[in-house]
Amino acid sequence: MVLIGSIDQGTSSTRFFIFESDTAQVLFHHQIELKQSFPHNGWVEMDPKELLSTTQECIEVTCKKLVESGKSLSDVKAVGVTNQRETSIVWDKVTGEPLFNAIVWLDARTADLAEQLTKKTPNNNKDHFRSIAGLPIHPYFSALKVKWMIDNVPEVKNAVDQDRALFGNVDSWLIWKLTGGTHVTDVSNASRTLLFDIAKRQWSAELCDFFGVPMGILPKICSSAEVYGSIKDGALKDVVISGCLGDQQSALVGQNCVAAGMAKNTYGTGAFMLCNTGTDMIVSKSGLLTTVAFQLGAEEPVFYALEGSGSIGGTVVRWLRDNLGIINASDDVESLAQLVDTTSGVYFVPCFTGLYTPYWDPKARGTICGLTQFTTKEHIVRAALEASCFQTREMLDAIQQDFGKKLQLLKVDGGMTKNALLMQMQADILGFDVVRANMPEVTGWGAAVAAAIGIGALKVSDYCNRSDTSAQVFHSTSEQHTREEKLKQWKNAVQRSLAWAT
Ligand code: ADP
Repeated sequence: MVLIGSIDQGTSSTRFFIFESDTAQVLFHHQIELKQSFPHNGWVEMDPKELLSTTQECIEVTCKKLVESGKSLSDVKAVGVTNQRETSIVWDKVTGEPLFNAIVWLDARTADLAEQLTKKTPNNNKDHFRSIAGLPIHPYFSALKVKWMIDNVPEVKNAVDQDRALFGNVDSWLIWKLTGGTHVTDVSNASRTLLFDIAKRQWSAELCDFFGVPMGILPKICSSAEVYGSIKDGALKDVVISGCLGDQQSALVGQNCVAAGMAKNTYGTGAFMLCNTGTDMIVSKSGLLTTVAFQLGAEEPVFYALEGSGSIGGTVVRWLRDNLGIINASDDVESLAQLVDTTSGVYFVPCFTGLYTPYWDPKARGTICGLTQFTTKEHIVRAALEASCFQTREMLDAIQQDFGKKLQLLKVDGGMTKNALLMQMQADILGFDVVRANMPEVTGWGAAVAAAIGIGALKVSDYCNRSDTSAQVFHSTSEQHTREEKLKQWKNAVQRSLAWAT
């Protein structure tokens, strides 16, 4: 057995774990909550230097805990990286400095740009590139964020002109910094850029040309499990980085959804459902994304997934806490929502920066419907939680439609799933079992698995045969007609949110 480190750089926080590779047990970890800035309506930025410094601090603090426990740092054989996807950074390869803030995946500043670009496609069709990239033209994906930086940030434009600019999602930025200059990404992260040909597994000249992104600034594409380079300083100096997965794909691996037909939903800042479709690439007709799930080694096959991406998630809990002050701490949502049995007809669509699957409307904005004099904050808090459940239901319906099979259960993980009330509401809104991982850190675990595979400490086949991490089951107690009626009302509320921003 070896110890494997795992960097989990998320939107809410940065974490570092040291796992035992055989038991999946977290021995030590450290976590730092992060700042996000909202410079304008719909804009979301983060500081690339903070993403790096918190990563380094998490590594150092975790390693100190390991050493203090009497264990040896030399037992840590590899490190994996998992990261918030799509979030885009451009930096200067000469100075190593970022040239702008990271534009976060949730950011909707390019809504108009997406419309303009869509008009340039032969049939004014935002799905024009789905057969190449698996994705619609939408602000969510890196291509539009990079184009915006090139068009609007003179420092970025100059660096591109002078051949000094490098682009990366958070994985590339961290690996470049930690290794001292290795510019790589993995297939799962590349598949979120809207610049990647997911069938050919290479950057697409057609897409780069269409979005005006020079191919020279893009990282080299690798598999999700191979040695990319070694950490150049700090407590883990000389330890290899040998695993890399976008956070949702990492959770898919961590949940052991390694065979076709297995699905998981992760409730973090947003919510993301991935269904492994094996080595088949299914182009969605129901508003889902087709994405690379993982490639666990340069010689291993590429697995694909259908993905439902939801902008609604824990971000509304933060909003209730930080903007409205209805709760003091995130955990208060559960006790408050529990004080009422229903939302009493209140439907809350907390889509602050647009709606994703299946609507793909960057101009949708939040709505609360059904308010009366009877409505209390408890109803609103409960409705905020229900919103995540309805969004999940819509994603699951779409996956079953495209995949052509009924799923039997849904594995769940992520920061919101500690909320047992939310999980029960989810089972009731879906009408089937929700299985919560017994290990909350499945996202970090997935990257650790990839890193262990990358150094040959774990075989893909052995991992596939492991019993999975699922534990607590929430059974549905709802009646079908109640479920369908509520879903109808939710969809009515969504209609009122669509196309709100001008
Ligand atoms: P990410 O990986 O996107 O950074 P996490 O998986 O860490 O996110 O989940 C953090 C999110 O969970 C935050 O947005 C927070 O508001 C939400 N959250 C935290 N505690 C609770 C709770 N008890 N009930 C519901 N949501 C919660």
